[in-house]
Amino acid sequence: MHLDCPNCAASYDVPDALLPGRRRVRCARCGHQWAYAAPGPLAVPFSVPETEAPAAPPRPAPLAPRPLVPPRPSRALRLAWAGSALLLAVGLIAALALHRPIARVWPPSLRLYAALGLAR
Ligand SMILES: [Zn+2]
Repeated sequence: MHLDCPNCAASYDVPDALLPGRRRVRCARCGHQWAYAAPGPLAVPFSVPETEAPAAPPRPAPLAPRPLVPPRPSRALRLAWAGSALLLAVGLIAALALHRPIARVWPPSLRLYAALGLAR
């Protein structure tokens, strides 16, 4: 029988009669000891205990298809848009209604008011 030390890789040729079944052997070079099992009817075969394979972890559910309609904007966003539109409308109305005082203070605005038909 041929043996190799798993620690130092020293190799030995041992007569089969000296290694019946399972034995504990010791390396003459490094002193490492390990269990040796002779092949054959006396040897205990290496076997993996039969256990049931662990169940695969559950897969996450597939994502639902997204709706084609975009989500409705939040209430705060709608209020911000409404406030911005109201502010713009008030500014335009004030600029039109107060075109005379504005033109007195800022004469270049007369050209814009004239283009809009508001020149006096
Ligand atoms: Zn050894």
